[in-house]
Amino acid sequence: MIKWQVDPPQIFKSFYSQIIWNSINDKILITFDDGPHTGSNDKILEKLHNYNYKALFFVEGRFVKSNKSLLNEILAEGHQLGNHSFSHKNLRKSNKEDLLEEIKSTNDSISEIIGESVQFFRPPYGKFNSEILKISKQLKLNTVLWSLLTYDYKNNFEIVKLALNKYLQNNSIVVFHHLEKCVEVTCDGIDLINNLVEENKFKIGIPEECLK
Ligand SMILES: [Zn+2]
Repeated sequence: MIKWQVDPPQIFKSFYSQIIWNSINDKILITFDDGPHTGSNDKILEKLHNYNYKALFFVEGRFVKSNKSLLNEILAEGHQLGNHSFSHKNLRKSNKEDLLEEIKSTNDSISEIIGESVQFFRPPYGKFNSEILKISKQLKLNTVLWSLLTYDYKNNFEIVKLALNKYLQNNSIVVFHHLEKCVEVTCDGIDLINNLVEENKFKIGIPEECLK
């Protein structure tokens, strides 16, 4: 596994300074994309609860309305919700109206649940362009990407282990997925992070302190 597959190159990050790539306070931020789903929610929440970690969940608008109870469970545990678009398509291929609809409708449905405006947005697949960044800014969203993609969705713990052991840093923003197909591997990944935390190598931060 080569570094840029896990962590985008610094020169690229510097060029897009509007995007948040790393945690700002030398604490690791854990994030979960693509949820919420019934078959993975309990397992992920239980794991985070046991370690007392607070995470940021980037949810898809298409799942929000029919899964309000899952979102309320996530919120009840003290986690935060972010916008991961409505339908999880590559937004670089969307026209302006479609883009606005994808992002704004998801904002509206999350806001309805959290009772305040959404602060964070992560475009699907991490794919963005200047139009996407412009709309995100107009909607007062902070665009959050990552510095460590765990590849947990490949459902192979060896890959996750390699990515975390090799590339986890103090200020990492780590991406896991809220998917039923790989939830055991995702939970094993959280265990591995916790092992490293217990060895005093790293600290886990809460979204508010890692992203402000
Ligand atoms: Zn995604």
